[in-house]
Amino acid sequence: SYASRDKKETVFYEDKMKEMLNNHAETETRLIDAIAHNKFEFYYQPIVDAKTQKVVHCEALIRLKDENNKPISPEYMIHVAEELGLIKKITKIVTKNVAMQQKIWQQKGLHVKVAINLSSYDIEDEDFSLFFAQTIVKYGLNNKSIAVEITERTAVQNYEAAQKFLQHMKELGIPVEIDDFGVANSSLHQITEMEFDTLKIDKSFVDKILEDEKDREIVNVILQTAKILNVTTLAEGVETKEQYEWLKDKGCDMIQGYYFSKPLCVKDFEAYMLSYKEPLDSAT
Ligand code: C2E
Ligand code: MG
Ligand code: MG
Ligand code: MG
Repeated sequence: SYASRDKKETVFYEDKMKEMLNNHAETETRLIDAIAHNKFEFYYQPIVDAKTQKVVHCEALIRLKDENNKPISPEYMIHVAEELGLIKKITKIVTKNVAMQQKIWQQKGLHVKVAINLSSYDIEDEDFSLFFAQTIVKYGLNNKSIAVEITERTAVQNYEAAQKFLQHMKELGIPVEIDDFGVANSSLHQITEMEFDTLKIDKSFVDKILEDEKDREIVNVILQTAKILNVTTLAEGVETKEQYEWLKDKGCDMIQGYYFSKPLCVKDFEAYMLSYKEPLDSAT
């Protein structure tokens, strides 16, 4: 009957709700523990030069496991960290660890620019640019060796703070990338006014380029716009050879995605970099 179905559904939602609350509490515990005892793991996803397929860049992505040693979804964990006011601490941990890693790579003769992800809370924090610059100096790094990513959504939803932050980064000579570009509807006026170096085309657009002519044209317009703005282009979420070749032929500068590699632990990332062989058809 309807009554029993309603009851079943109520129980179902109660269970779901409990599960979510448990997850939330569990994630909170894990985050606090990870902050206190340095338990985050750092993964690095290779980003290749579209023409040579050489790793020139990478993105640092954090990983954390739950009590059963199962990975917690990074998106969910970041969301909880933002809600609990823990994100600024985490960003500082990421910055420090990436700077340490970058120094080791440079000592080993591995040259790769590393990008870290920032949250809107970081860009609203007036002290963050100073902390970032000090960390770079502390580890003896060049100001171009670590880039910061802010999403297009963060940039438009906090436009004033973002403008200020981007200006600081420009003065410090730190490269800025606009992440997940294409989904947050920034105006042409806004992107023209913003100071940044690289535009990262969101995976959802990359997914569309094989679908139909209209979708391809939209990505083409984004690539042309970047050219006019004199910024480099990076496509994220590239999973197939067809997507890669289309993007390369249209002049997209850099490629990130499973077609080349998933995010890797340090050891595997180094092996990936060292295994580079020039492709036969890259004589351009
Ligand atoms: P994002 O910054 O857009 O990072 C790219 C995400 O796309 C990563 O997911 C990466 O593993 C995934 N990805 C890359 N190539 C492919 C592909 O070809 N196919 C598919 N299906 N996925 C691909 P991940 O590592 O799960 O991270 C998710 C999000 O969590 C990130 O999105 C970022 O917003 C956030 N995040 C991760 N680490 C950090 C961090 O240290 N700080 C902050 N604030 N956010 C972070
Ligand atoms: Mg990112
Ligand atoms: Mg992204
Ligand atoms: Mg994304």
